[in-house]
Amino acid sequence: MKRLAVLTSGGDAPGMNAALRAVVRTALDLGAEVFAIYEGYQGMIEGGNRIRALNWDTVGGILHKGGTIIGTARSLEFRTRQSRLKAVHNLVQHGINALVVIGGDGSLTGANILHKEWPALLAELVNQGTISAEQAAQVPFLTIAGIVGSIDNDMYGTDMTIGADTALHRIVDAVDAISSTAASHQRAFVVEVMGRHCGYLALMGALASGADFAIIPENPPDGDNWEEKMCEILRDGRRIGRRDSIVIIAEGAQDRKGNPITSDHVKQVLEEKLGEDVRITVLGHVQRGGSPSAHDRILSTLMGAAAAKAALEATDASEPLLIGNRNNKIVELPLIACVETNHTINEAVRTHNYKKAMQLRGPGFQGSFDILRTLVRALPHPPKPGQKQIRFAIINAGGAAPGMNAAVRAAVRLGVDRGHIPIGVKRGFRGLINEDLVELDWMAVNGWTPVGGSELGTSRKVPEDRELYSIARTLEKHKIDAILMIGGWAGYKAVLKLYQERQHYPAFNIPILCLPASIDNNLPFSDFSIGADTALNSITEAVDKIKQSAVASNRCFVIEVMGHYCGYLALMTALATGAERAYIHEEGVALAALKEDIDMLSAGFEHGKRLALMIRNEHANPLYTTPFLAALFEQEGGDLYDVRIAVLGHLQQGGNPSPFDRVNAVRMANAAVHFLEEEFLNNPKTKNSEAAVVCVGMGNDHIQWTPMYEIARAYDEEFQRPKQQWWMNLRALVHMLAQPDPYFAKRNRQSA
Ligand code: ADP
Repeated sequence: MKRLAVLTSGGDAPGMNAALRAVVRTALDLGAEVFAIYEGYQGMIEGGNRIRALNWDTVGGILHKGGTIIGTARSLEFRTRQSRLKAVHNLVQHGINALVVIGGDGSLTGANILHKEWPALLAELVNQGTISAEQAAQVPFLTIAGIVGSIDNDMYGTDMTIGADTALHRIVDAVDAISSTAASHQRAFVVEVMGRHCGYLALMGALASGADFAIIPENPPDGDNWEEKMCEILRDGRRIGRRDSIVIIAEGAQDRKGNPITSDHVKQVLEEKLGEDVRITVLGHVQRGGSPSAHDRILSTLMGAAAAKAALEATDASEPLLIGNRNNKIVELPLIACVETNHTINEAVRTHNYKKAMQLRGPGFQGSFDILRTLVRALPHPPKPGQKQIRFAIINAGGAAPGMNAAVRAAVRLGVDRGHIPIGVKRGFRGLINEDLVELDWMAVNGWTPVGGSELGTSRKVPEDRELYSIARTLEKHKIDAILMIGGWAGYKAVLKLYQERQHYPAFNIPILCLPASIDNNLPFSDFSIGADTALNSITEAVDKIKQSAVASNRCFVIEVMGHYCGYLALMTALATGAERAYIHEEGVALAALKEDIDMLSAGFEHGKRLALMIRNEHANPLYTTPFLAALFEQEGGDLYDVRIAVLGHLQQGGNPSPFDRVNAVRMANAAVHFLEEEFLNNPKTKNSEAAVVCVGMGNDHIQWTPMYEIARAYDEEFQRPKQQWWMNLRALVHMLAQPDPYFAKRNRQSA
């Protein structure tokens, strides 16, 4: 049998506990014994009670906690072979032969060294007589899986590291707050964020908050006179009416020659050259602390589960693995190659090889940097002489989704900068029917990024009959060349309608793009729709509070969440909150499964469980309603526990958009503008071309395009959700993680 140890090391990151929980429960579920090594590598060297067995319940109730409950440390000692010899001795004494390390690139380097030296250190211990040959023979090799816990998102190979999304939440919240005070006094603020070698937080923080300038280590501002250029942008911004100026700077920012750029220096420059009233805010450790975001809880859980599995399945020939995520998939990567490439990036930054550094950060990073450069401009580039201008209508349709405004703003600015003319349509397709349009210029969308809801107004109107005629007339009268619809299913349906009526209305023969925005995440051809991450965070925060309300008694909550017929929010809520069960329409609710759930609840509460969460999608089953489920559990639970209902309602649709939604909104809007331009200017067949009506989405290849005519193949119109949903295969994990330990033990005994 394998014995697996897990440790957290280096800087702490929100989500480490969620990862720990997943590692421990997955390993137990796979039949391993599990140990925690407290205080990182230092604990491994010290041994004794620093290495302790963990059980199912030790990692209960920690999913939402920031930091790491098993402690972390920086251990200078571990860098010496002599100390690692001690560490190996301690591991051998516990028969540990698999290790999961959750930490930054230093911690993973340490893990790799341990892996390589293991056989030699074992032999040395046997030679010394410290351990017996039999003991050594029991653990001939140490298998290793690493997870990157780092708020900086600074690891090559993985799109995201644990903690980065939460840190972005802190930054974006802070900049939103600072913006309002800055605007009141017409002040300038320099906001310093973490990131010694990596500008991810500064870059994405700026993209998501609508800041006016960002300075990152990998791509310093151009030229010797960058200060002058920065001031020019900010000066122009003031001239056209911006009330605040916000510069975000990474702590490791430097100029092209490698001289550090400090917040103090930027402040001084702004004061001297612009005569601004400047304040500095150094965000510091708030970025590291606090409860992890929904995204981090889920990512950590998926990575933790994959790491335990990888470490337990690895063989003597296996090199250490890094568990990463790429294009929304959990992947196993060669740990050492990733760490080495990371060192190459850091080295490139150190030696001012910025081109290489940016290249190695990947196309997503480079692309976001380019978008930011345009968005922070005070004014657009003037149109090139003789350039064909596209007049494109922007519509919000369907229910309001947080992030719609960020997408509209980005589409307007990126479009205007490329010489085109965006026309805002008010209140969805009603606005096209009633000719309610407004031309949007650069400043018309100023300050829209952080605002929830829809500034243009949205509606669920799907045009019919004579309304189509009105729309055709509006499009012709206003010479609309293309349409960008940012919205939910009602919007897709409306676009589909126009598409199907092309033969009858020549005005509809234009490129039309659908950009997914709906909290339900039920739209075709995209893994994520804008708004869903915000909703998930709102729900997760609400469920955290609901949990805290139940301290005194044994209680089961039945919590109803939105989603229409799509179970995404319900299932992801279950993953992010550690709920026992998610009832979703895709799976249906069967009496036999309910019976099993009742048994599971009873077993859990009998063995000391105090709280259970059953998440129900609003349309999971028309007859087994939320009150029905609650009544069933209440009756069957007897005196073991009582039951309460929480229907979360509209708080799920409101709120300021999360950083993830803002960044995705901007990136998809950018892709949309480019597609439009490409279709319209470079594709002479655009008119009557079926391929000109498309859906943009976040998918396998980050941003993808799918022609509208594919919709019947991929979409279930009756239940308004994609026929294949990527997250459906996460159900087993929810089930596994939420089983109560006694139940698990009983089942194991039965199968033994
Ligand atoms: P992070 O893991 O967040 O990058 P550090 O770089 O401080 O943080 O590394 C954490 C710990 O990992 C160190 O304190 C040390 O114990 C171990 N470690 C880092 N680099 C090495 C190395 N080259 N050899 C052995 N151990 C290392």
